[in-house]
Amino acid sequence: MGSWSDFRRDRILVAGQWVSADNGGVLDVIDPATGESIGTVPNAGVAETGRAIEAASAAFETFSRTTAAERAKMLRDLSTAILDNQDALAELLTREQGKPLAEAKGEVGMSAAYILWFAEEARRVYGDTIPSPWGDRRIMVTKSPVGVVGAITPWNFPSSMLARKIGPALAAGCTVVAKPASQTPYSALAWGVLAEQVGIPAGVINILTGSAREIGGELTSNPLVRKITFTGSTGVGKLLLKQAAATVKKVSMELGGNAPFLIFDDADLDRAVAGAVAAKFRMPDRHASAQTDFMSRPGSTTASLKPSRTPPKSWSSAPGSSKVQLSARSSTMQPLPRLRNSSATPSGKARVVTGGKRHPKGDRFYEATVLADANATMNFAHDEIFGPIAPVFKFETEDEAVRLANDTEFGLAAYFYTQDPGRAFRVSERLQYGLVGINEGMITTEVAPFGGFKESGVGKEGSKYGLDDYLDVKYVCVGGLGL
Ligand code: ADP
Repeated sequence: MGSWSDFRRDRILVAGQWVSADNGGVLDVIDPATGESIGTVPNAGVAETGRAIEAASAAFETFSRTTAAERAKMLRDLSTAILDNQDALAELLTREQGKPLAEAKGEVGMSAAYILWFAEEARRVYGDTIPSPWGDRRIMVTKSPVGVVGAITPWNFPSSMLARKIGPALAAGCTVVAKPASQTPYSALAWGVLAEQVGIPAGVINILTGSAREIGGELTSNPLVRKITFTGSTGVGKLLLKQAAATVKKVSMELGGNAPFLIFDDADLDRAVAGAVAAKFRMPDRHASAQTDFMSRPGSTTASLKPSRTPPKSWSSAPGSSKVQLSARSSTMQPLPRLRNSSATPSGKARVVTGGKRHPKGDRFYEATVLADANATMNFAHDEIFGPIAPVFKFETEDEAVRLANDTEFGLAAYFYTQDPGRAFRVSERLQYGLVGINEGMITTEVAPFGGFKESGVGKEGSKYGLDDYLDVKYVCVGGLGL
């Protein structure tokens, strides 16, 4: 049981060595609750990335030939090490990311669960034999690790997003070069400390911090990297897809979402409110649509929420929507001026039902906010919000609700509440989303596939499907059998 500072590394991990950036440059890591620096990490670039890729490629030669049982044991040990240090890792995560400690603990627990899941899956990478159309030949199908994997992760889940990538990569026999978000590098570097503790060979996991453009550019262009796995914004995902096209890498993309949360008039309202508060304010990228008097409830329920240590850092740095929303002062909020998909001018005004201003806890905190009278011309109908703001739209019919919900380029997750089983099937089948929660607001688990439709992504993470993208399928024909 270490303390959080035992896991804080101010070096990058390349070929089993903790090293500085070539030019000695560093980036500050800021505690978003206080605005103060909690340390620095190297500002690495192309050269360091090239060396990390070479290390991963060299390590792949031997690591890819370990047995599934050996890799399963390493992953089991890694999962145990995470749980043994859950408190310390959670504190490190909270300090750099800002989410409440209980949620950070939950996230670290999820990391351990993902790693354990893939430890188990490692031993079940089955192939096939296929009935041969030729009497003297046999057909086998085997699966082999794709090779070096470049993994790029965001700030909102700095530990578990990496778990979903490191877990299947190592289970398959791949090696990894990881690049976390610059705002939250320590939770990623901690994976290096844990990997060392449990004896994962040098070069199997390499972790870089620094210039996203340079590291991402090298990861996507270097031919030794065979797969890019990315979680982040749709814009950066598209850029990486383009860059990866030049060397035809495999790609997994977990991109943006703006999850609709539909409450039908036959819903169990108490359950819906509890689900909306949990879903909306823990993973604040959803908006609710209601057919009922939902609006009479959320005020009292949100009052029980503890403030996050901070609004996420991107709020103060992101241009456009989030910043404008943050500047809302009074009981009315102007619709936002910029729309991603439309040149139409936003119409009407959303009304603040609860929240709508900075939290008494300080300038860097924002109250849980519920907005009524939202409409589809407003920015938050299309853009990811990343803040504790729940705009509520009103709909009249099931058709309209489905149309509203599908009217976005995103397709990550959707939630709806109804007690009518017919409606449950009808609506679920029509929703163009990779994840659907019916009468449930928190549905993420390592045993189920996570991944978006449409511009929300490519590929699945977690579950038995989560390993596929790390494996190449090989057809082997054995001929000349003389049968
Ligand atoms: P978010 O909005 O969730 O912060 P981003 O897509 O901006 O999402 O960031 C997700 C990850 O992608 C971060 O690690 C970030 O540093 C990285 N990133 C941002 N721009 C690039 C780029 N041009 N090339 C590679 N990685 C990038």
